[in-house]
Amino acid sequence: MPRFRECKHCGSEVDTYCQTKIEVGGYINECVDCVIELGTEKAVRYRGVVDGSGKMAALSIVAFDSKEDADAYVASFNSCGFGRRKTNNCNQIRHRHIGFNGGNENHKGKL
Ligand SMILES: [Zn+2]
Repeated sequence: MPRFRECKHCGSEVDTYCQTKIEVGGYINECVDCVIELGTEKAVRYRGVVDGSGKMAALSIVAFDSKEDADAYVASFNSCGFGRRKTNNCNQIRHRHIGFNGGNENHKGKL
């Protein structure tokens, strides 16, 4: 595979081995600027996080706008769960919940 491609949008040279290009994503024939400008990178970074509520673990599937946000969220979430104080900053990181499979908190009438 040739290292350099021509960007299909603007015709400038694309260095496919460039770290920035690898992180930004997009097609192999799109330069970094066009990927960012046109928003052509469609791969959403997903992470699943599990908390300890109820009899089964609740699973949150969360989508982020960047890999950095995703990693920060998981790091924050994992540092706060399971009985420790809720000092996380999960809600300060830009994210959106894609799906939430809530834990079963049914106590069978004995509350
Ligand atoms: Zn371009």
